[in-house]
Amino acid sequence: MTTEHATTPINPWAVAQQQFDLAAERLGLDDGMRAVLREPRREFTVHFPVHMDDGSVRVFTGYRVQHNLGRGPAKGGIRYHQDVSIDEVKALAMWMTWKCAVVGIPYGGGKGGVIVDPKQLSMRELESLTRRFFTEIEVLVGPEKDIPAPDVNTNSQIMAWMMDTYSMHAGYTVPGVVTGKPISLGGSEGRNEATARCTVYCIVEAARHLGIELPKSRVAVQGFGNAGSIAATLIEDEGATVVAVSDSTGGIANPDGLEISKVIKWKKEHGTVQGFPGATDISNAEVLEVDCDILIPAALENQITERNAGNIKARLIAEAANGPTTPEADRILWKNSKFMIPDILCNAGGVTVSYFEWVQDLNRDHWSEEVVNAKLKEIMTKAFRETLAIARREQCDMRTAAYLLAVRRVADAMAMRGLYP
Ligand code: NAD
Repeated sequence: MTTEHATTPINPWAVAQQQFDLAAERLGLDDGMRAVLREPRREFTVHFPVHMDDGSVRVFTGYRVQHNLGRGPAKGGIRYHQDVSIDEVKALAMWMTWKCAVVGIPYGGGKGGVIVDPKQLSMRELESLTRRFFTEIEVLVGPEKDIPAPDVNTNSQIMAWMMDTYSMHAGYTVPGVVTGKPISLGGSEGRNEATARCTVYCIVEAARHLGIELPKSRVAVQGFGNAGSIAATLIEDEGATVVAVSDSTGGIANPDGLEISKVIKWKKEHGTVQGFPGATDISNAEVLEVDCDILIPAALENQITERNAGNIKARLIAEAANGPTTPEADRILWKNSKFMIPDILCNAGGVTVSYFEWVQDLNRDHWSEEVVNAKLKEIMTKAFRETLAIARREQCDMRTAAYLLAVRRVADAMAMRGLYP
C-alpha cells in the first residue's frame, strides 16, 4: 500500500519490524528472543483455481501467516484486496500478536489475504473463491489452532461460507473455527460494531486525559467501511461533529458537520460518499489534513507518512485501521505534541469480541449485547489506562508504550515455555 503522495512504496513488514525493534531495544530483550519474535513462525502461500461465470478457470494467490503462538492459537482476519502481498500479511499477523497481548486475551497473531478485487466477482464466484481458499488453508486453521475473522472486504457472509466449508469436511458443525459470523450461526452480539466501539471508548478516555470536550470537537474519518462508518456514527452519538469522511473513491467535507446516517444511506445508493448533498468533494489526502480535533484513520496502511504528518491538524489520532502511520510519521507527530492511540490498542475491540464469540461457541452459549459491551469496555479501559501509565512513566508516545506492554507479555510467555526440544 502507498499513500497518494508517496514516490516509493512503503513496505508494511519493514514498518512492523522497525516498530518491534524499537520496543525490543528499550526492553533490553536478549538476542535470541529478538530473533524469534522478529519473524513469523509460519508463512503459507497457496495458488488455487476458481471456475469463473464465463466458463474460464482463474488461479488466485492467497496467504495465511502465523506470527506467534506463544500465548494461544493464532487469531486474525482475512483480507480480500488487489494489493494484498505476503509482506502485508506478515505485518498484519505480527500486529495481531501484539494486539492480543495488549488487551490480555489468550491468542497469538495470525492473518490471511487473497489477491483479488472482490467487487469484480459475482456472488457465486466470491463463494467459490472463499470455499476453495479456506479448503487450501485448512491444514493450518481450526478452533484450537488458528481462528480467522473478517478484515477489509470480507464480512459475516464470507465467514459463514468458511465455517460451512470447514464443517462439511469435519462432518459436523464447528462454529468456533471463525469469528465474525452471522448471529444465526453462533456469531456474537456486538461483533460488527466492536472495532469502532473500542476506538470510541479509547477516544473517550484520551479526550478525558487531554481535556478535549467531545461535544465541542470536530472529527475526520478516513475509510467508510465497517470500522470507519460505525466509528463515525458512534462518535456522533458522543456529541462530536464529523466534518470529513472518505472512502476509496475520495472524500467529502462540511465544516458545519455531516449527518452520518444520511452519508451511509448515500454511499449505499451511489457506491461512494462523493457527491453527498451540501458537502464539498475533497481528495483522500485532504481528509487527513482537514481542520479538526480528532482524526480516525480507518482504511489501509501507510496513510500518514513523513510527507503529510507535519500537516495534520488534529490533536488526537485514533488508529481504527491497522498500520496507517509509519515510524517516521510517528516521530513527527510526537514532536508536534499529537496524541496517538495506536492500532494495537485502538482497534483491539474487534479481536476482543471475536474472542468472546469463540468462548461462546466453545461453550454453546450466547451472551446479550449488554454483557458483550460491558466486558469490552472493561477490557479496553484497563488496556488504555495501563498503556497510558507506561507512556507517562517512560516519557514516550502511546505506541511505544503499547509495544513495551505487549512485547514484554509475549516474551515472558515464550521464556516460561522454554525452547523446544
Ligand atoms: P472495510 O472493507 O469494511 O472498509 C474499508 C474502507 O476503506 C472502505 O470504505 C474503502 O472504500 C476504504 N478505503 C480503501 N482504500 C482507501 C483509501 N486509500 N482512502 C480512503 N479510504 C479507503 O474494512 P474494515 O473492516 O473497516 O477495515 C478497515 C481497517 O480497519 C483495516 O486497516 C483493518 O485491518 C482494520 N480493522 C478492522 C477490523 C474489523 O473488525 N473489521 C478490526 C481491526 C482492524
